[in-house]
Amino acid sequence: MHRNQWKTATEQLLKHWQRSGISHIPANSPGSDSKTAEWMSENATFVFEEMSSTETAPLGPVVTQVPHLASSVKENSPAVPLATKMAASVAPARAPKPAIAEKSLDMEKSLEKGKWNTKELPPSERESFLHTLNEQVNACRKCEEIVCRRQRTVFGTGSLNARVAMFGEAPGAEEDRVGEPFVGAAGQLLDKILAASGLKRPEVYILNALKCRPPNNRTPTETEIENCRPFFEAQLEAIQPEYIVCWGSVAVRAVLKSTESVGRLRGTFHAFRGAKVMVTYHPAYLLRNPDAKRLTWEDMKMLIKEMGLQIPGPSTGTQ
Ligand code: URA
Repeated sequence: MHRNQWKTATEQLLKHWQRSGISHIPANSPGSDSKTAEWMSENATFVFEEMSSTETAPLGPVVTQVPHLASSVKENSPAVPLATKMAASVAPARAPKPAIAEKSLDMEKSLEKGKWNTKELPPSERESFLHTLNEQVNACRKCEEIVCRRQRTVFGTGSLNARVAMFGEAPGAEEDRVGEPFVGAAGQLLDKILAASGLKRPEVYILNALKCRPPNNRTPTETEIENCRPFFEAQLEAIQPEYIVCWGSVAVRAVLKSTESVGRLRGTFHAFRGAKVMVTYHPAYLLRNPDAKRLTWEDMKMLIKEMGLQIPGPSTGTQ
């Protein structure tokens, strides 16, 4: 698609979205069967000790079924990875947001810091918006070096009602093959980190800065990140998570537009529009530097506490 056509299509989508109504998401309630962390037991036994002495309540988010989200899922389309499929069957609850129906739709006003740029989409519209956006990702050919090598685009997966968005770097070989984010070795570690924290993968939304795999998994360039920016920003606007976790420095560059190191940015919350942003080490980095898992675990505890949840106790696992 020509650059201008693509821009126009995206603008039309955003306008359509702004015209959309507001609806509230089902109320939240605690409870979970989260398993304790294999992830920690492998490399950071002390974490278990700390958890067992200070964090014993086995609570986590409960999953609420919202079957109507299944309506427009196209099961056979490779262009629609798990994002819509998961949303079709699982939509975890989040606390109802304050009523914002009276808010002005004026884009300029909504660009205030700490606010999402657009009105919150009703769940049914989130799905179709993301579906269309995914089609645009599939049609995108902006990064010539990448496009000619990619097997699949990797859009995003997870709940359309996620309270947290997990924001990574770019697809690797396995993601490029399967069309889903974080399904390779780094993804397996991410799953363990989520489980240890009492979060379930289908409850969060997982996306990357880049939607295509850079050759040989090289670090994405600034241009590639900017080429993908309309996509990942629109994804985040559609989900409007309360929290975004930036996994690694590329995610930081994309979301916070910062070149500060993860080490300097972690340990506190930052802002991206209406979301609180937490920065931590990328799972692939943790695989190479297992000592840093301890720091990521500290970060996850900070997140879980801020979300008003609790880390599952070590004895509550369902394994
Ligand atoms: N690393 C990422 O940042 N994203 C993926 O999807 C896989 C590995």
